[in-house]
Amino acid sequence: MATIAEPALAFTTLPHPAPTPVEVRDAILAAPGFGTSFSDHMVSIDWSEGRGWHDATVGPRQPIPLDPAAAVLHYAQEIFEGLKAYRQVDGSIALFRPEANARRFNQSAERLAMPELPEDVFIESVRQLVAADRDWFPSVEGGSLYLRPFMIATEAFLGVRPAKEYKFLVIASPAGNYFKSGAPAVSIWVSEYTRAAPGGTGAAKCGGNYAASLVPQGEAMARGHDQVVFLDAEQHKWIEELGGMTLYFVMKDGSLVTPPLSGTILPGITRDSLMTLAREEGLTVREERYSIDQWRDDAASGDLVETFACGTAAVVTPVGKVAGRDGEFTIGSGGPGQLTQKLKARLVDIQRGAAPDTHGWMTKLG
Ligand SMILES: *Cc1c(COP(=O)(O)O)cnc(C)c1O
Repeated sequence: MATIAEPALAFTTLPHPAPTPVEVRDAILAAPGFGTSFSDHMVSIDWSEGRGWHDATVGPRQPIPLDPAAAVLHYAQEIFEGLKAYRQVDGSIALFRPEANARRFNQSAERLAMPELPEDVFIESVRQLVAADRDWFPSVEGGSLYLRPFMIATEAFLGVRPAKEYKFLVIASPAGNYFKSGAPAVSIWVSEYTRAAPGGTGAAKCGGNYAASLVPQGEAMARGHDQVVFLDAEQHKWIEELGGMTLYFVMKDGSLVTPPLSGTILPGITRDSLMTLAREEGLTVREERYSIDQWRDDAASGDLVETFACGTAAVVTPVGKVAGRDGEFTIGSGGPGQLTQKLKARLVDIQRGAAPDTHGWMTKLG
């Protein structure tokens, strides 16, 4: 059945009256870090019951007025996305698979009882923000403009039900390397906490999942590790994912194993892209459960030669060491593995426009 198309949303553009001074911006762009500085503009679109999406604006980045009773502040009705705009080798700017982020955003919205945002509006929002902030690309090697679309429940109401008013926003942050000092391989801590249970919100990209991961992540860091890995909630045996990244295991025979999308892990776009690239290389990729005991045994016997974590923010990050209550083990030499580096290079080359985009993954922004 055909549905009536929503009228196209027209964006109102309000240039920043007092943008960041060039010297300040240049200093930021020379050492951007991750998520600590922000561009001058933001996109904002409101939704209310009856009116749907309205008042699309690209304007100065500024605090948003929020009633103290806004539902997001009490019941965490919030979802987000993360994607990057990349400077191409030819000087243009492009997004990597933004339609996959738009689709996943709506899957998250559905799980959190929030309204759907038309995919073309999601992509147009990102496009508008990048156009307004095109001077915010880092000057450092490997830099990009990280885009953070998100939606919050703004209705002032303390009853427990889906809100009737929402705000969709997009902000941008110049990004360098996610892991400080671009560490060659990270050390991860096997948590006794769980991130997501069957039937829960593990497959949705929502702030609540992250709130629940902060204590485990803090525990990992207090023990001298970089990241935390979560096991499944039922048996506490199967490896799920890091707080915000997917894991891949590289076997001696060159095959790859990654946990299946069981509903408790996030369907990563980097995960999906690397699966395609690995298969193109002729490698076998198995979406299979892999246990913590098997991981330790395979690392010891040499059947497992590499492990890496992947996600938009940190791209591909080798895992060198794993520790838990039962002790620790090293993977391969403890440094970045060959296949990890090869797959990372393949992906980064496509994202930077240095290799042909044979899958139609790039959206050029001009
Ligand atoms: C965002 C996220 C990922 C990575 O997804 P990408 O689409 O590859 O960036 C993995 N796990 C969790 C929990 C996430 O929130």
